[in-house]
Amino acid sequence: MQIPILELKREYQYLKKDIDQEIRACLNTQKWILGPKVCEFEKKVAEYLGLKYTIGVASGTDALLLSLSAFAFKLKKKERFDSRDEIITTPFTFIATAESILRSGARPVFVDIDPATFNIDPSEIEKAITKHTVGILPVHLYGSPCDMDKICRIAKKHNLFMLEDVAQSFGAEYRREKVGSFGDSAAFSFFPSKNLGGFGDAGLVGTDNKATAGLIKSLRDHGQNKHYNAAYLGFNSRLDSIQAAVLLAKLKHIDEFNRKRIKIANTYNQAFKNIPQIQTPASGLRASDLGLTHIYHLYTLRIISRRAKLLKYLHSKGIGTRVYYPFSLDRMRAFKGAKCQGNLSETRKATSEVLTLPIHPFLKTCEIEYVIKSIRSFYQKL
Ligand SMILES: *Cc1c(COP(=O)(O)O)cnc(C)c1O
Repeated sequence: MQIPILELKREYQYLKKDIDQEIRACLNTQKWILGPKVCEFEKKVAEYLGLKYTIGVASGTDALLLSLSAFAFKLKKKERFDSRDEIITTPFTFIATAESILRSGARPVFVDIDPATFNIDPSEIEKAITKHTVGILPVHLYGSPCDMDKICRIAKKHNLFMLEDVAQSFGAEYRREKVGSFGDSAAFSFFPSKNLGGFGDAGLVGTDNKATAGLIKSLRDHGQNKHYNAAYLGFNSRLDSIQAAVLLAKLKHIDEFNRKRIKIANTYNQAFKNIPQIQTPASGLRASDLGLTHIYHLYTLRIISRRAKLLKYLHSKGIGTRVYYPFSLDRMRAFKGAKCQGNLSETRKATSEVLTLPIHPFLKTCEIEYVIKSIRSFYQKL
């Protein structure tokens, strides 16, 4: 059996009629840049997330960068931070999170993660705050919400902006509210592999602040405030109409798809709970109390022993498993100018233990069973 970590063809087959119809509407109007499909998608996402404003951009990375550029303008009256300005984030994330901080002119400050959730540890954030700190950039990793109560409180107390990286958590909830509605702004990615994915690069910024929304709308279109008059140093970063069309068709099914992910995760959790070498993804925060939903964009285990051997074994069985992420950002040459709070020992441990299994809405029961059987047989042979 071959079970790739991602299988997008099945999703397309399932949604083909809708997607093809949406794309055809684009072909008929020939409005490719900020056309009616982009407006329609922005409006529907705003409704879905409970946000006042949404701005479609070219990628999740740009959603982060344009947000930071807008915050720089608000704080400094220019579109970039100074290298002294510090933004606190997690080193256990995808490259783009800290890349956007450096591109915005500021300095990333890496703080350790909470081992129960793999997300940024709020108490480590507090320790890292200096007079140069301007903001906090938490990442809802793997589909699991960060501890927003604590992070919001810290941001408020120290008068810092908070930008949520929601690239992996579209539709996840904290206290029954969608993540992305807690920060001063939020960055979403619709990269094809994300739980809501386009047919290419795409992203979106969400905010409740009118001024921030206006600024980002202008920044995505060369900083224009009037046609052919640039008020800001902007970017060429617009959401393509065709991506908006595809995403409109998929958005209707996002809750159904997220529920399927959760169901598969529960099956995996049950199956692995008695294997001593494996720790299943605990929701860390008491899920029911906090109205928390982990939407399992990625299903990531801790493998306490023999991870490399297990990985190899699963590949030999045709199962697509991966390590998200084998290197933490603080260890990368590109981020050698960043600051670190403490020794980041939990991050270190996570990079050596995590393993992600296939999880997507179109995984078949027999495939799930095959993954479980393969992992059990690996540990039974010991
Ligand atoms: C995918 C991802 C991004 C970047 O999104 P792109 O659309 O690929 O630019 C940023 N942060 C995290 C955590 C991601 O997983």
